[in-house]
Amino acid sequence: MAHSEVKLLGWVEVKRDLGKIKFIILRDYKGKIQITIPPTSSSELTSIFNNLSREDVISVSGIVKNTPQAPNGVEIIPKEIKIINKAVSPLPLELTGKIKVELDTRLDYRILDLRTARSNAIFKINNVMLIAIRNFFVENDFMEIHTPKIIASATEGGTELFPVAYFDKEAFLAQSPQLYKEQLTSVFEKVYEIAPVFRAEESNTTRHLSEIVMLDMEAAFKDYNGIMVLCEQLLDRVFKEVINKCQRELEVLKQKIQRPKTPYRRYSYSEIIEILTSNGVKINWGDDIDTFALRKLGELIQEPYFIKDWPTKNKPFYISPCIDHPEVSESFDLMYGWLEIASGGTRIHQKELLINRIKEKGMNPESFDFHLKTFDWGMPPHAGCGIGLARLLMSITGLDNIREAVLFPRDRYRLTP
Ligand code: ATP
Ligand code: MG
Repeated sequence: MAHSEVKLLGWVEVKRDLGKIKFIILRDYKGKIQITIPPTSSSELTSIFNNLSREDVISVSGIVKNTPQAPNGVEIIPKEIKIINKAVSPLPLELTGKIKVELDTRLDYRILDLRTARSNAIFKINNVMLIAIRNFFVENDFMEIHTPKIIASATEGGTELFPVAYFDKEAFLAQSPQLYKEQLTSVFEKVYEIAPVFRAEESNTTRHLSEIVMLDMEAAFKDYNGIMVLCEQLLDRVFKEVINKCQRELEVLKQKIQRPKTPYRRYSYSEIIEILTSNGVKINWGDDIDTFALRKLGELIQEPYFIKDWPTKNKPFYISPCIDHPEVSESFDLMYGWLEIASGGTRIHQKELLINRIKEKGMNPESFDFHLKTFDWGMPPHAGCGIGLARLLMSITGLDNIREAVLFPRDRYRLTP
């Protein structure tokens, strides 16, 4: 490349005037390069330089020169610089990362914040993660599906639904593709979906948002053990790709990760209750594991692990109870430190049992008529899970707050930008 002529398009990240010699650091989606304006340059170039401010969009035409002392070992000696569009000065957000800015302020100016090294690194890792996930499913012969996000009835009967004014009817935003993906196993056998779901989470935590991207998978002729193996292989693939391809980004985030050994530990829910109890946490068999207990688990176990065989009553109606002890279910949560990354399980495929479970949960089977019907038409045994992608990204990149792992997060208080 040395001595060749190039034209670059990008943003002014830094402008440095050392008197006779002047520098611009130009940034584009791939990286940064130094533009050096030597003392011999035309007065026209100098006056354009003087007019530049941070984040201006410019084009630079010039000669590539090998320079060991330049950041990437090369610099551009410009023949022409054109300002394509100016940015305001000063900008409303400090982008150098030298001054700590509150997350709330960063989110207010998210497009600018995404240009900082930190945020940029997070979403580059996210992209590598998504490519790894899609490749994994393609190689394992899964079909990508998209299920409706405007639905007529609750998937799980929860209170977490957002109502939508849908012409003259009441509708809701989907909290999960659960019922549709189950039905689709009776056609395509192995399906997956990467799409937003909506949860009206009243609580304001560092791990809950109202709109999240879920990775759902569902497979015919598998049970929860088979799905745990798939989850493990998928995560292992993500670790491998991120470690191979994102060293620079991980360095920016000061995050050292190693590929956790597979198979991941499988604890039963009962074992976890014992571990918690013997570590001073007050919890009884049948309780959900609350934030305090989760934090304790995070201290005790750093690697990814599964909590399986949950009490049936703690899980949604479509989860299959164990045949020999129906108070326990064929279910699992995939955990990473203190965070729940995924929930899954064997699903009930017998219509009568499913109707009973809906009733036991205090819901009306009639509102699931569209779903129950499909169980008369040859429903295979099936199992699956839902993975919260932002939670996974949060764990891999070592973030404390899920809001950093979503481009434009939505929570109880934030609806813009
Ligand atoms: P939690 O107990 O952490 O609130 P959940 O058990 O209600 O989660 P599931 O219905 O099991 O959630 O959803 C599957 C996955 O989706 C979770 O394991 C998690 O990774 C992610 N997830 C669920 N709700 C949220 C949310 N409000 N914000 C971010 N991620 C979520
Ligand atoms: Mg769950």
